[in-house]
Amino acid sequence: MDALPDFRVLNPTTLDEVMAARAAHPDSMPLGGGTDLVVNIRRGIVAPPVLIDMNRVKELHAIKADAKSLEIGASVRLSEIAEHPDVVEHYPVLAQAAAHIAGPTHRNMGTLGGNLCLDTRCIFYNQSEWWRDANNHCLKTTGTMCHVAPKSRGVCFATYSGDLAPALLTLGAEVDIAGPQGRPTVPLERLYIGLARQDVPVSETQGDGKFFLSLRPGEIVVAVRAKNTPGLRSGYDKIRIRKSIEYPVAGVAVALKREGDTLADLRVAITGTNPRPVLLAGTDALCGGKLDERVFKGLDALVRDQIMPMKTTFTPGHYRRRVAGVLARRLLKRLFEG
Ligand SMILES: Cc1cc2nc3c(=O)[nH]c(=O)nc-3n(C[C@H](O)[C@H](O)[C@H](O)COP(=O)(O)OP(=O)(O)OC[C@H]3O[C@@H](n4cnc5c(N)ncnc54)[C@H](O)[C@@H]3O)c2cc1C
Ligand code: SF4
Repeated sequence: MDALPDFRVLNPTTLDEVMAARAAHPDSMPLGGGTDLVVNIRRGIVAPPVLIDMNRVKELHAIKADAKSLEIGASVRLSEIAEHPDVVEHYPVLAQAAAHIAGPTHRNMGTLGGNLCLDTRCIFYNQSEWWRDANNHCLKTTGTMCHVAPKSRGVCFATYSGDLAPALLTLGAEVDIAGPQGRPTVPLERLYIGLARQDVPVSETQGDGKFFLSLRPGEIVVAVRAKNTPGLRSGYDKIRIRKSIEYPVAGVAVALKREGDTLADLRVAITGTNPRPVLLAGTDALCGGKLDERVFKGLDALVRDQIMPMKTTFTPGHYRRRVAGVLARRLLKRLFEG
């Protein structure tokens, strides 16, 4: 195992102190539970000289949920989200997604903020320093080429694998951000810019597996919020290699409304396939009628066309594409009939 390099940990107790620490240490990184960040530091993937521990900031620990709305602070633990009775009752997709993350000890340490900002993953990246060095690194770190797609023209396809984001996307969540320019609230979808388009240069709005968050220097996630939609049924499911503790091969969140025999609303979001969580566009066109083969085939087509699983994991891309489609179909049927 690699030794941890030296770094300082700052322990602010208010959001203003966090902002001041970020401003004073531009190379710092926020520390949630450290269940991903510390692994990456140990592997020499990142080497921040200063970590800003977000866990003592009281205002980041708020969790409020009722039949009307939801608000969760960035430092709330995954296990709290999974077990909160009002989240379980009114926002089951979110509670189920949280319960599906890693293992119990990770869920007791891991936070909402860390999960939303989880680094993208790739079999050529999540390796020890000597392993990556032996392969001449890759362009997500210090190398010059992508081993997954050698003709990628500078684009990285590392995969976003957080489980909470797709669940929150189906709830139409917004995210509160704090930074040097103020405290904007933006749709959660806008936090993720990992489009990985080879024909469009990487920019502040169109990124890839390396530049996958829209956060600007000094910005942090403060909280997420969502309004409840009366009558919305929702759920989350994922396929993973080891069921007890593993990132998604593919993870799918579905939220829908049924009115009589009619599918009145449908939202589907997927993780583990692209450099961003994907909220499927075009599900509106599947609503307004019965849940029949036309809807299932239409959903299959949307999944097929909008996800982009590359060879960034041990499971092949075509398998992850199939799995995502099957999970989406299953959840749709179960929730509609439920
Ligand atoms: C064996 C194993 C299995 C795992 N399985 C899963 C899984 O199934 N699903 C899954 O989603 N994850 C999984 N993970 C990853 C990780 O445990 C979770 O994603 C966890 O939620 C990360 O949260 P954290 O608070 O520990 O983040 P940290 O490791 O502390 O931080 C992660 C990143 O977020 C940044 N960050 C933290 N807080 C903020 C903030 N408030 N604002 C801005 N940036 C912030 C950090 O700087 C860092 O870049 C697994 C990890 C391991 C080791
Ligand atoms: S997708 Fe390519 S550039 Fe990105 S981490 Fe993997 S090998 Fe590196």
